Amino acid sequence: MIGWLEAMLRVGRKLFVKAETQLYPEETPKLFPRSRGRIVLTRDPDGQERCVACNLCAAVCPVGCIDLSKAVADDGRWYPEHFRINFARCIFCGFCEEACPTSAIQLTPDFELGEWRRDALVYEKHDLLISGEGKVRGYRYWSVAGKAIDGKDKGEAENESPPVDLKGLLP
Ligand code: SF4
Ligand code: SF4
Repeated sequence: MIGWLEAMLRVGRKLFVKAETQLYPEETPKLFPRSRGRIVLTRDPDGQERCVACNLCAAVCPVGCIDLSKAVADDGRWYPEHFRINFARCIFCGFCEEACPTSAIQLTPDFELGEWRRDALVYEKHDLLISGEGKVRGYRYWSVAGKAIDGKDKGEAENESPPVDLKGLLP
């Protein structure tokens, strides 16, 4: 009898507690900025593509859902000629974002990726590339990279020393 009363009391108390359940999609859930959803490719503050097609994100992806190929622009910058993510396989682990040396690839809180056709979940570069910097502001990979490109020779990057003349070291 006491057990029954205790159970009724517990259930009855819930009548006066605010419900935690959210009616999706009527109510849009408030997600934290670090929530891991749809992946985007970002640009640096000058509007240039950040991705240098180093392939690290594809190498670290545990399900192998990233595919890309490298090309070289006239100014010496590397960029992905094609960049493809199969969201039907992606598990949103965030490893690609962690591995990326240029902060190009980023996960966003957008989780509404449902499609009727599986092939519609394969996103090409034009679907992934956004016009902004995403979560990482003010970072320009090419300003700190040691590789020479048009307008920036070796040794001219931020915090970079001029190259050592090896012949000058000879006795
Ligand atoms: S979030 Fe994980 S599974 Fe998805 S593309 Fe990145 S590394 Fe691969
Ligand atoms: S998104 Fe990042 S890790 Fe992936 S290829 Fe581009 S620069 Fe490399």
